Amino acid sequence: MTRAIACLNAGSSSIKFALFILAADGPRHAAAGKLEGIGVSPRLVARDISGAILIDRAWDHGADLTHEVLLRDIFEWAGAHLEGREIVGLGHRVVHGGGRFSAAVRLDDQVLTTLETFSPLAPLHQPHNLAAIRAIQALAPDLPQVACFDTAFHHDMPESATRLALPRALHDEGIRRYGFHGLSYEYIARRLGEIDPDLATGRVIAAHLGNGASLCAMRGGKSLDTTMGFTALDGLVMGTRCGSIDPGVVLYLLSQRGMRPDEVERLLYAESGLLGVSGLSSDMRALHQSDDPRAAEAIDLFTWRAAREVGALIASLGGLDGLVFTAGIGENDPLVRAMICERLAWMGLVLDPEANQRNAPLISAPASKVAVRVIPTDEESMIAIHTVNTLGLNNQR
Ligand code: AMP
Repeated sequence: MTRAIACLNAGSSSIKFALFILAADGPRHAAAGKLEGIGVSPRLVARDISGAILIDRAWDHGADLTHEVLLRDIFEWAGAHLEGREIVGLGHRVVHGGGRFSAAVRLDDQVLTTLETFSPLAPLHQPHNLAAIRAIQALAPDLPQVACFDTAFHHDMPESATRLALPRALHDEGIRRYGFHGLSYEYIARRLGEIDPDLATGRVIAAHLGNGASLCAMRGGKSLDTTMGFTALDGLVMGTRCGSIDPGVVLYLLSQRGMRPDEVERLLYAESGLLGVSGLSSDMRALHQSDDPRAAEAIDLFTWRAAREVGALIASLGGLDGLVFTAGIGENDPLVRAMICERLAWMGLVLDPEANQRNAPLISAPASKVAVRVIPTDEESMIAIHTVNTLGLNNQR
């Protein structure tokens, strides 16, 4: 029987999953799916590697269906369609590994209990990640599960990149900068090592621009600094998150506007960013299609702040050899890339407009002092690699 591993990324309203076959050269992508609309009208679509649809199912009266019930349905469906494959491990994307976990870890009750203590640090993500782990434990108690952390790639950032200028005791308690999107950045670092090994040894900023957005300053494929900090709210303007704001704003909302902490949390995580500034949408494609001036203002702010933060990370790196765009906007949006790069022209960064327009792998002009690349991210592959390594499955084919 062919051995396979599954990867899960369980969020608040969606569950993404992927299936990998254990091949001689490592995990090979076999199928992927997404269940969206949890709590409203759930719909599951899965495709094989050729893009052919394996399942497209919507649930009637699905508003009441919990993550656990829907996960059970996915699990049952997957079990019935494995066709001679045996799932021997399951890897989860877990947003927060705190200061404790510097690498992926096999899950047991003790690890889960520790991870639960990090839930207040990532209230919109961590509880859903952990609920999925518990649900799988109940469905398949003997299936080994692995947690792969978004924070792990940044674990060894220099002290200055992790410390907030707060009293030391708070830092020691864990109130410090962690960084996120680490699975994406780790994948980009690996991929860059394959396609441009010289650049991979240099000073590179990777820009993960999706619904969540951040930048990572890397040298020799290691994280030196990043724009997200204590939580995934920090840094760039995002789809619905505000990015860095003066903490005095939060104090003002609490003390002068009388908002409750949960109301402020909703405002900062779910009602701000592109959505808040445009008043229209959190989706970059929708903003491009709108002729409302507020849409243009939101896009302009998004690109201005991204370029400004690139400047800050150049200072952390002491210069820049390469800029890599990734994720939904970074991979697909020539206009946003051009607007960011125009603001960086002062350092001799020159785009090739035609290559940029077709989302080519290399989009800088030959004369550019900084190489600019587009690399599609693949967090699932990174989870698969960590799962195989953590469970020692690479020795058992
Ligand atoms: P992600 O979170 O990585 O899935 O990225 C989601 C974001 O990418 C949304 O703002 C989408 O509008 C944006 N996006 C996806 N495809 C495109 C595209 N072809 N052009 C512009 N933005 C896109």
